[in-house]
Amino acid sequence: MDHQVNVNDTLSYQEPAPIKDKENPFESMMERFDVAAEMLGLERGVYEYLKTPVKQVIVSIPIQMDNGEVEIFEGYRVIHNDILGPSKGGLRFAPDVNLDEIKALAAWMTWKCAVVNIPFGGAKGGVRCDPSKLTPVELEKITRRYTANMLDIFGEDRDIPAPDMGTNEQVMAWIMDTYSMHMKRTATAVVTGKPLIIGGSVGRREATGRGVMIVTLGAMEKLGMKPKETSVVVQGFGNVGSISAQLVQQQGCNVIGIGDVTGGYYNKKGLDVEKAIEWVRKHKVLNGFPGAEKITQAELLELECDVLVPAAKEDQITPKNAGKIKAKIICEGANGPTMAKADPILRDKGIVVIPDILANAGGVTVSYFEWVQDRVGYFWSIERVNRRLERMMKNAFEAVYSTAEHYKVSLRIGAYIIAIDKVARTLKLRGIYA
Ligand code: GLU
Repeated sequence: MDHQVNVNDTLSYQEPAPIKDKENPFESMMERFDVAAEMLGLERGVYEYLKTPVKQVIVSIPIQMDNGEVEIFEGYRVIHNDILGPSKGGLRFAPDVNLDEIKALAAWMTWKCAVVNIPFGGAKGGVRCDPSKLTPVELEKITRRYTANMLDIFGEDRDIPAPDMGTNEQVMAWIMDTYSMHMKRTATAVVTGKPLIIGGSVGRREATGRGVMIVTLGAMEKLGMKPKETSVVVQGFGNVGSISAQLVQQQGCNVIGIGDVTGGYYNKKGLDVEKAIEWVRKHKVLNGFPGAEKITQAELLELECDVLVPAAKEDQITPKNAGKIKAKIICEGANGPTMAKADPILRDKGIVVIPDILANAGGVTVSYFEWVQDRVGYFWSIERVNRRLERMMKNAFEAVYSTAEHYKVSLRIGAYIIAIDKVARTLKLRGIYA
């Protein structure tokens, strides 16, 4: 088992594909929320409660850089909802992080946890910085100061961060250590996605990609598609994209396109995903990867294929390119890769979209397993982790599928209906304290 964590391995922040259109991410989330809320006949007070974040924290993070200069970074943590339990969600380090994005991502975490039926609310954090331009020492200082600023927010029973874009296991280790130093005890369960030797879970690193593979196969089965006859294109080659590509290939699918910040890589006959992962391990990016034709990032999304996995960033499928997408299934490995305005276009084309709040929920599901293991102090085998992940993802997929059929809506709205209904019912039982 690999216990080594190299800060520079996975921290290089990757720019999104150069499709400049942007939707306000919180509004984009609300557009879908509104449709589901109306179908559920949500009363006004509950509607307002569920759309409003519980807490929004902005902190300044002064750091003495390696050159001796002091720089101020801005950090955020938004707790969207904590009705189902302690809030849970990743921490993102990226140069364009902003409060609206973090708010949307926090809300998506609330719905995601509810869809896969884990006892957490939703939160998200971020620091506006470019990790690829920071030294490991600077990165550690930012992480520790951010954590120190969040001591009143974080906690095993309050709010539990995890990795997201631009952060990794090492960053989680620093969060755990900083929090533990202040609490005067080792608090492993305050953060998930940690290295194995300090209370991480086997299977956590691969969990989001594994979840993507499980629900993609579920959707393929519904459409009568066989893995051997299925071509897949994956946008994004970080933790989620690369593992998704690797696992669907292991299931027999033909991965014909992959891509990262440097462009798209296409081979009609199929790419060797293992070799691509090896290439990126050595060269950091896919650029120069042999055995594939280089195409643009825009062309990658529009390739003739059966399954498209956008696993890069928000707003990649836009009203402009949605009409040109040829896949039968889109499985959203990233959070918010499809603009709300593109939803009806995909729907009219009959494309089955497995929505982010279901598709990429494997990560937080194994985060939940990690939290449980830390609290009990007893660690599971990889077989147990993967078996339980598979069961929970399949159950969630079937629930979303049948809800969508029942209400005659897309899988996305079906997932929102399940999530909102669960949180709303829990809220009613708990009542409003005042
Ligand atoms: N950042 C991941 C997500 O967006 C994981 C969150 C977690 O494990 O808490 O789902």
